[in-house]
Amino acid sequence: MNTFSIAIHGGAGTLVKGMMTPEKEVAYKEALQIALDSGYSILEKGGNAVDAVEVAVKVLEDSPLFNAGKGAVFTATETHEMDASIMDGKTLEAGAVSLITGIKNPVSLARDVMEKSEHVFLAGEGAMQFAKTNNYTLENPDYFYDELRHQQWLDIKDTDNFQLDHAATSTKLSNQKDSKFGTVGAVACDKNGNIAAATSTGGMTNKRYGRVGDSPMIGAGNYANNKTCAISCTGSGEFFIRGVVAYDVSCLMEYKGLSVEEAAIEVIQKRILEIGGDGGLIAVDTQGNIAMPFNTEGMYRGSKNSKGFNEVSIYK
Ligand code: ASP
Repeated sequence: MNTFSIAIHGGAGTLVKGMMTPEKEVAYKEALQIALDSGYSILEKGGNAVDAVEVAVKVLEDSPLFNAGKGAVFTATETHEMDASIMDGKTLEAGAVSLITGIKNPVSLARDVMEKSEHVFLAGEGAMQFAKTNNYTLENPDYFYDELRHQQWLDIKDTDNFQLDHAATSTKLSNQKDSKFGTVGAVACDKNGNIAAATSTGGMTNKRYGRVGDSPMIGAGNYANNKTCAISCTGSGEFFIRGVVAYDVSCLMEYKGLSVEEAAIEVIQKRILEIGGDGGLIAVDTQGNIAMPFNTEGMYRGSKNSKGFNEVSIYK
């Protein structure tokens, strides 16, 4: 039997060390462990990788600690616009949604696009219409509200800044209070050696109306292919789009024969830095090997496999 494994992230660029209290650290780690365990239990019962990543991401979406679903960041117009995607490495089928509001679990809508529509990517009004047709109920804005996110938005509203967070050295960030992305994602390899990836986000604080990041873009923020690996990214979306990051990791494995670890490190520690991007990713190959590189101060992350390994961590 294949080694089965799962990895999750809750965003690269964490609260800067001085701002992280022991209580907050415990809360983040507990939330990560719950998400990890939920996905892992699907794999343990012989379930498939697509189910495992969807379940793990849903748990993270339901936690206000992360910037996806409940707790999503505010846009420039004080609303929430969420993006999500999912990909099945066995079939190369994929689903994505963007610019959606009021949907409790965007990752499930992305999965429905993959399985119940003839398209890959639905955005805005069209995605909302599709949700309605598939009987999604809408949460009101209060459900997504989080005080910290609102304060982050108040701090930069009416400026051209959108919060790239997480790197104190990034432009426009010198007076930011905390520094984090909170996009969530999961990658998994099941007992049959099939892999999948899912990613979900509220995007970036104070982003312009209509801005779409890398998270819902297949090949940029999310990708899975049984020939190589499954990847979910987090970081400065504009750069991850331009670097076609997730697909680049896969290509380095396919064309250059790199291992998942080597390919992921090459992209995060070299290629994305060269164009000015920061963030991280999680990746798994069909043998269940996991890589989780990041070039920020930290990345909320966790991984677990059938050989008994289990770890959740935040900083390096
Ligand atoms: N990559 C996400 C975006 O640009 C942000 C994040 O990772 O938190 O929308």
